[in-house]
Amino acid sequence: MGPPGAGKGTQAERLVKQFGMKHLSSGDIFRAEKSSGSELGEKLASYMDAGQLVPDDVVVEMMAKAITQVDGGLMLDGFPRTVAQAEALDKQLLEANSPLDAIVVMVAEDDIIVKRIAGRRTCPACKRGYHVTFMPPKTEGYCDDCEGVELTQRSDDCEATVRQRLEAYRAQTEPVIGYYRGCESLAIVDVDGNLDAALIAGEIIEALTALEA
Ligand SMILES: [Zn+2]
Repeated sequence: MGPPGAGKGTQAERLVKQFGMKHLSSGDIFRAEKSSGSELGEKLASYMDAGQLVPDDVVVEMMAKAITQVDGGLMLDGFPRTVAQAEALDKQLLEANSPLDAIVVMVAEDDIIVKRIAGRRTCPACKRGYHVTFMPPKTEGYCDDCEGVELTQRSDDCEATVRQRLEAYRAQTEPVIGYYRGCESLAIVDVDGNLDAALIAGEIIEALTALEA
């Protein structure tokens, strides 16, 4: 768990490789269910297409369906996003007799997150990704591979939108971490998302391996 831009996706990829877990990203599951044409998918599409927030019970139903289809270890990413979702998930997992083992919490400073996300650029022609600070093109504003093509920024990634996403995260999702800190049987692994990605991965892997032993 952690704010947008804390580096969750990068860490998720590394952990999946390290532990051979299945990666369940709520965003991927939403998109798959929506395009499957199932009854649940249609319900979901009605909210998403109207730009509305998907209600907790629909989110939980869909995630529970995906979770029960996994045989073996799994990692949740982007879910639960509210305390109500966390409580419903706990109930489902208790019934299935496979409670959560650990929560990885990534923290990062708002200004660092804004710098990371707001600096992202993409080439509209070849889709190559850049970052104005961390991975700049040879000529500012233009793709290295496509002559004369100007790089663009996703509207989601502009500073004002990132600050809005951070506010929503603090209001809705941060309380979920507090909820989990109150669960005695659950290990919480806190990592500093301001650090280098490889360093963070090492810390998480060490903590989770100790837990496994
Ligand atoms: Zn290009």
